[in-house]
Amino acid sequence: MFKKILIANRGEIALRIQRACRELGVKAVMVYSEADRDAKYIKLADESVCIGPAPSAQSYLNMPAIISAAEVTDAEAIHPGYGFLSENADFAERVEKSGFKFIGPTPDSIRIMGDKVSAKQTMIKAGVPCVPGSEGALPDDAAFIKRTAKQIGYPVIIKAAGGGGGRGMRVVHTEAALLHAVQTTKAEAGAAFGNPEVYMEKFLQNPRHIEIQIMADQHKNAVWLGERDCSMQRRHQKVIEEAPAPGIPRKLIERIGERCVAAVKKIGYRGAGTFEFLYENGEFYFIEMNTRVQVEHPVTEWITGVDIVRTQIMVAAGEKLPFVQRDIQLKGHSIECRINAEDPYKFTPSPGRITTWHTPGGPGVRVDSHIYANYFVPPNYDSMIGKIIVHGDTREQALSRMRTALAETVVEGINTNIALHRELMVDAKFMDGGTNIHYLEEWLSKRVR
Ligand code: ADP
Repeated sequence: MFKKILIANRGEIALRIQRACRELGVKAVMVYSEADRDAKYIKLADESVCIGPAPSAQSYLNMPAIISAAEVTDAEAIHPGYGFLSENADFAERVEKSGFKFIGPTPDSIRIMGDKVSAKQTMIKAGVPCVPGSEGALPDDAAFIKRTAKQIGYPVIIKAAGGGGGRGMRVVHTEAALLHAVQTTKAEAGAAFGNPEVYMEKFLQNPRHIEIQIMADQHKNAVWLGERDCSMQRRHQKVIEEAPAPGIPRKLIERIGERCVAAVKKIGYRGAGTFEFLYENGEFYFIEMNTRVQVEHPVTEWITGVDIVRTQIMVAAGEKLPFVQRDIQLKGHSIECRINAEDPYKFTPSPGRITTWHTPGGPGVRVDSHIYANYFVPPNYDSMIGKIIVHGDTREQALSRMRTALAETVVEGINTNIALHRELMVDAKFMDGGTNIHYLEEWLSKRVR
């Protein structure tokens, strides 16, 4: 096992990884920007290093500063968390070339999955079902593009190979709009992602977002840890996640989970990973793979009993997975609400000083958050300030526990989306389960204050 790990992230996930280190008896080095200097999890750390000013580009995305911090503190490995440099293949490569272990897959795996065209081609070869679409990137051939769209059938979606974060996509309903859409998406993708390649997919009208968590070691062992339903989204950002996915036959999910494991073994993937699928009319369609820990990993931890972050560290240290597939028995139901510092109606960010922070508790309640009373939410980063996660024997019990937890939670000094979560937890359709990816936005458009 490592003696010391550097955590190249901030906020709740930095604290989550710090906790895993403590449990494993591993020392944790935290890096921080000037904006995070006073955060309690920095003060709690075994060691900490300031890596630059508040803007991410100069701190949490500053590769030389992070690598030198690892050098001066004698860390052996770097955990990238999610966001920031976690899916940056060049960073992973520089980490390893500098003599540290990158807690994640190989730079090659990250590179392949980071390009959605190559990711899709890899998955098709590995037998994972994908959204019908162009075989690769679209060539500069108007007749070919029109033919491809006709074969797929309208509406189609044009997507950037290098896209991410819900950006670089355009839906096309008619042939008249097709070529223009391809050109604009290409131009935008070139400017935003440095890669103008685009591809085409059938646009699914009412899918759900279902994802499969996998975990693999360097000894050819791989296991899938059930699925998560992350269909409750606003602007392609997940708001509520749960596991298992309500109402989908287990046989169907098992088949897809096994496919994911086979794919992972085939490509020699190591570490934690998530296969994202759209699910419509009983079919799963792969859209992308995330090569890092996800924000929503706790719901999986709760129904499987597996500590995902701890396991990430163990397999990065070369250990074998401490479980096999038959050990993974799903138990009960878990729901996560992301708590954001934002206006609950207009969704504008609400940074500032938190004056009161009263956390919920009791059976089946977990709070993953780095905040506390008198904490200042900096305006420089993502607005998520924590997550409330509940577990129950049944989905009904989990919902009931979430209602109680949200009722107990008090945050003062800034605005949060807690009011939104309280409303959603008593929404009849959400309570039924199985809402699609458009549900939350439609609900918001009809919401009365
Ligand atoms: P990103 O990496 O930017 O998150 P994804 O490929 O994961 O991009 O897609 C993000 C979201 O866009 C999906 O969760 C879904 O809501 C929508 N989307 C992507 N592809 C399709 C498709 N073929 N049909 C319908 N919706 C899609």
